[in-house]
Order: sequence, then structure tokens, then C-alpha cells
Amino acid sequence: MNTAVRTRAEKPLMSIQLQLKNAPKRMPLAAIKAIAGNASEMLVDVRESMLAPHPRKNPPVFTTAQVADLCRIDRQRMHYLARTEPDLPEGSLRHSRSREFTLAETRVWIDRIAPFVKRPDGVKGKKIAIGNFKGGVSKTTTAMTLAQGLSLFGRRVLLIDLDPQASLSALNGILADSEVTDEQTVLPLIYGDVDNLDYAVQSTYWDGIDLIPASAALFGAEFYLPFKQSKEQKFQFWNVLNKGIEPLLENYDVVIIDTPPALSYLTINAFMAADGLIVPTPPSALDYASSTQFWSLFSDLSESMQEVAPELDKNFDFINVLLAKVDHSQAATHIVRDWINKTYESLVLPVEIPTTAVTQTAAAEFGTVYDISKYQGSLKTYQRAREAYDRFAEIIDQQLVALWLAEKESE
Ligand code: ADP
Ligand code: MG
Repeated sequence: MNTAVRTRAEKPLMSIQLQLKNAPKRMPLAAIKAIAGNASEMLVDVRESMLAPHPRKNPPVFTTAQVADLCRIDRQRMHYLARTEPDLPEGSLRHSRSREFTLAETRVWIDRIAPFVKRPDGVKGKKIAIGNFKGGVSKTTTAMTLAQGLSLFGRRVLLIDLDPQASLSALNGILADSEVTDEQTVLPLIYGDVDNLDYAVQSTYWDGIDLIPASAALFGAEFYLPFKQSKEQKFQFWNVLNKGIEPLLENYDVVIIDTPPALSYLTINAFMAADGLIVPTPPSALDYASSTQFWSLFSDLSESMQEVAPELDKNFDFINVLLAKVDHSQAATHIVRDWINKTYESLVLPVEIPTTAVTQTAAAEFGTVYDISKYQGSLKTYQRAREAYDRFAEIIDQQLVALWLAEKESE
């Protein structure tokens, strides 16, 4: 970090006389504002000095071999197609003989060549909520990597960030504090000023992923929705997000909703809108214990929803438990994984995401495994993580395809 950044950050702190002494220091409430201002200024500086965010956050580039892999063809076939199909992007020539493809070019190849089943005409995209009332279980990472993974199956993805902490927005290079106004979030929909979410959709640095960002102001929804319900009997506080997403579903193969670590009104909206629910659950004893609380609270919620709205006929197309942040060096991991399998049985996806060092450098923490073009550490470490995320995306993609085809058939 450069020194210019540091001095700028220290000045306001000195002005409120926060000195490094062991004696506790009385802080008036008014001092919090200075700390907050300082912190958000620092974050902007840090981001500008060492990260490469939107619009400077760059998607990875792909080698010929990687594009061939993503299209499920061999390199010979790829060379043949490159020669014979003039519409396919040719990439650009880098060091001597090797070609390099941008993400957008790679996605054109995937769209044209890969053998993936496309969403049939007239069938809408599916909505997936990522939820768990505990923080730090990798909800946001799961939302982002799933979006990236699915985009490499040629899918168009809309991400909706419902967490006032806005980590998903940050992974897209957008800082909630300085760059997101209330009007760019789901709030105008929640407040009933508009009836669909079109206004809030932003493109991102990643071709194939759009985003509706979050900001701290989302907390307002927690007061407004119950207030409105108390005033208007007919209002359906749980159905606001669902109604706002509906008109967008023609444009996306999948809408992925990241939720805050709480049973909030926004979380209820996400779950009630969702066709599929994914619950990331790390195999540690504490996370296992809190996941059981998640299910009992969720069950209480389902019961009270049935009381409030007996006509509500809510079905999930799928509910999945994802073993996440699996750390094989921890002795407890295997035991707790057994508990999870015994508890949730067939809900547990047949893949596990390992704890990985790949994103544990400061700059990489604003990204995911998919953001890395060339990993500086061991290739094996990178591959292990990447393969797990790819497999996870593949399983979800297969579920989506099965649902689309079933829907087409029943038409
Ligand atoms: P949540 O949204 O549930 O609070 P996050 O996705 O923000 O969880 O993840 C919490 C922390 O764990 C973040 O610092 C993230 O980078 C880290 N993390 C997530 N998945 C992994 C993983 N597979 N390996 C190592 N660290 C991870
Ligand atoms: Mg999160």
C-alpha cells in the first residue's frame, strides 16, 4: 500500500484523537461519522491503488486450448473450425504463435460450437436463491462463481445482490458506498415506485453477467415491507421481488439472488421468488449447528406463510445443500461431513468445494477462481478448486436444462 494512502487515512483519525494507547478512549457518537468517512475513503483508495475494479476489473483471457475445452472439442477441431468458419472470432496473436481470446470471444465460440442444450423458445429463465442465515459460509462466493461457471456454459445470468453489505457488488468491482445510489438497487421496486426491475440492471465487466447491486440503504426494506403490510391487508410483502423479476425472465437463463445472513424480509422475498434454493454449508461443527437452525427457522417461516396466505402454492424445483469451504486438513471435517450427509441425504450435491488458497491474496479476494487468468501459485492447487467449481456449475446447469425441457414438453 502506498504511503499517500496511509497518511490520508490517518489524518481524520488523529483529528478525533484516536491515539494508540492502551487506555480506553471515550468516543462520542459523533466520532463514528469520522471513522465511517475515513473507512470508505480508504476503501476507495485501496481499490484504486491495488485492485482493478469495474470498469477496470478485467475478465480473464483464454488460450486456444482453454476455448477448445470449454467448447468440448479438441484443438485440431478448433483449428479446423477457425480456418473454415469465418464468423468465429479469431482471437489475437500474443507471444509468437499463441492466440488469446477475450471472454466475449470465448463465449461466442461456446454459443456456436459447444454441445450444450439451449433454453427453448418461450421457456423462461429460472431463479435460484443462495441462502443460509450464517455469515461467512460462502453464499456470496457461491453466487458469483455459479454465475461465472454458468456463463461458460453459454448462459446469460442476472445477479441480484440483496445483502446490504453488498459483497456481491464488490466482487463485480462496484463499491456500494460510493458508487451505488438507492435508485440503482431493488429499493424503488420494494417501495412500489415501479413494478419491474428493468431499471436497475447493469452490465458488468463479465460478458454474460448482469447485476442489480446492493447498498446499505437496503435495510430500509425491513421497515417498509411490514409497515405496508400492516396498512394494506391485500399487500403481499413476500411477493414483491418475484413480481419485479418476472418480466425479466425472457432475457436470462438464470437469475441468481444472493441473500443477507438473516431471516429478513428481503430474504423471504428471495426464497419466495426462487425456483431453486442452494444452501452452502461448510463441514465444521459450528456451521453444521447453525445450519440446523436455518432449517428450523425456515420451517417456521413456511408454516407462518401458509397461515398468512393459505392460497399460496409454493414449490421449489430443487433444494440443494452445497458442501463448501471443505478443509481436509481439519480432523473434524470428515465427521461433520458424515453428519451433513445423514441429515440432508439426497439434498446434498455430489460435489464439494474445497477451502482454497487461490483467492487468499488481498487483490484476489475481490475476485474468484474464475477471475484468475494465470495463477501464480501451484497449478494443482488452482486446478483442484477450479474443477470443483466447474463441476458444481455443471450439476446446476443440468438441473436447469432438465427443468426447461420438462416445461417445454408440458406446453
Ligand atoms: P457469505 O456470503 O456466506 O458471508 P462469502 O462468500 O463472503 O460468505 O465468504 C466468506 C469468506 O470466505 C470470504 O473471505 C471468501 O473469500 C472466503 N471463501 C469463500 N469460499 C472459499 C473457499 N472455497 N476457500 C477459501 N476461502 C473461501
Ligand atoms: Mg455474503
